[in-house]
Amino acid sequence: TKAKCRPGQEVVIGGWKTTAGKFRSLMVGVYKGEHLVYAGIVGTGYGAGTLKRIMPELKAAGASKSPFSGKSAPLGGKDVRWLKPELVAEIEYAGWTGDGMVRQASFKGLRKDKPASEVETETSRTDTPDRDKNADAEMSEPMVRKDSRATQGSSRWASSATVTVLGIAITKPDKVLWPGAGDGAPVTKRDLAAYFEAVGEWLLPHIEGRPCSILRAPDGINGEKFFQRHVMPGMSKVLEEVRVSDDHKPYLQVGSTEGLIAIAQTAGLELHPWNCAPGKVDVPGRLVFDLDPAPDVDFADVIKAAKEMRARLDAVGLTGFCKTTGGKGLHVVTPLSYALRDAVTWKEAKAFAQKVCSQMTADSPNRYLVNMSKSQRSRKIFLDYLRNDRKSTAVAPLSPRARAGATVSMPITWSQVKAGLHTTRFTVRTAPALIKRGNAWDGYDDAAASLKAAIKKLAL
Ligand code: ATP
Ligand code: MN
Repeated sequence: TKAKCRPGQEVVIGGWKTTAGKFRSLMVGVYKGEHLVYAGIVGTGYGAGTLKRIMPELKAAGASKSPFSGKSAPLGGKDVRWLKPELVAEIEYAGWTGDGMVRQASFKGLRKDKPASEVETETSRTDTPDRDKNADAEMSEPMVRKDSRATQGSSRWASSATVTVLGIAITKPDKVLWPGAGDGAPVTKRDLAAYFEAVGEWLLPHIEGRPCSILRAPDGINGEKFFQRHVMPGMSKVLEEVRVSDDHKPYLQVGSTEGLIAIAQTAGLELHPWNCAPGKVDVPGRLVFDLDPAPDVDFADVIKAAKEMRARLDAVGLTGFCKTTGGKGLHVVTPLSYALRDAVTWKEAKAFAQKVCSQMTADSPNRYLVNMSKSQRSRKIFLDYLRNDRKSTAVAPLSPRARAGATVSMPITWSQVKAGLHTTRFTVRTAPALIKRGNAWDGYDDAAASLKAAIKKLAL
């Protein structure tokens, strides 16, 4: 049989072997649940340049004990150095041996864009007793035929077979991202992709053309989370990158429903766009007033605050739209006209937002505050105007939240902003139908008004 060399397998580096003190090979594994299971050595692919690049990373990840667990875990010795299981390597290999080790594996590079905890076996390695019987067939067949696995409908693989949504591959579709959505049933990666597909046309207008940070949670909302602003190597082609003048690294941008699904594939749960005009990072495109209640504030008071904010904006010619945050507060958003004659700087926009919040606080000092000092916060609503700066973000309308209950930041009508508004009702499960048949934020684009004019009116 011909040995097939396939690229693309990712493995976690758990240690390395030396000969006479010099680097010889990497010891790698893949996750099965919580356990890093040993998958053998990667013996080739180390040019001098490669070694120079990876050596500092290996040294930095040094550990005193083995990260591998289970029966197959290798023994240590004077030629073995252990690592914390945090580096991910991409390898090429010829197949798996009967006892679950990679064959003829060669090193292709480090995958810095990928947390080690995401690396699980993508192949037919299992702990089932028939493994040895299958071993020969597995070795001569390409095993990472994700889509064919799905169509074969083998029940053994049904739960991990890749699915596609709008042509974008979703690996590990049954990975649980939220334990529940208020209905006791887990929300999986596949569910998230389907959610983005359903709400894409309402969500995209608020994020396209602007840098957009992503909150990723590869192990679900109770695992490690990280906020990603920049593009990463190996990122899906359907995602965009955007350069901004004072950062040499390009920022991530999402411009299509396919892009949203690619975000779901990377376990991107929250979308946090800039508030600039599309395609113009230096031009304010909307203002977001973030009403942050202290824990002891009644939600009825948050509702009152949102209405007051709306009235204050209205008084200077701006139209406010309200959304839940998926968390504890509300956001009032006002679209701005960015025609040249209305253009203002971010500095002016932020000063305006601060002034509106300060006036509101001055009129009701017992209810609101504009400074974040914790000691003063109790029983009050913090009026956070700081979302309104060039690089500041706010969670996007219809973005899910990486919080219990799979809530989303839901656009609502002002008639919904009243007693009985239960923000936890809006989830990745309920929001698609609600946004389709509702009329929240209708007229948003047409409501865009001149901030320049508003600044003048506020000064009067
Ligand atoms: P809540 O109603 O619970 O306050 P929220 O979305 O307003 O929900 P905040 O904690 O007030 O949440 O955060 C305000 C904004 O700060 C977020 O919408 C987000 O865009 C930004 N933000 C949150 N986390 C980060 C982070 N790790 N790095 C940078 N910006 C963040
Ligand atoms: Mn908030």
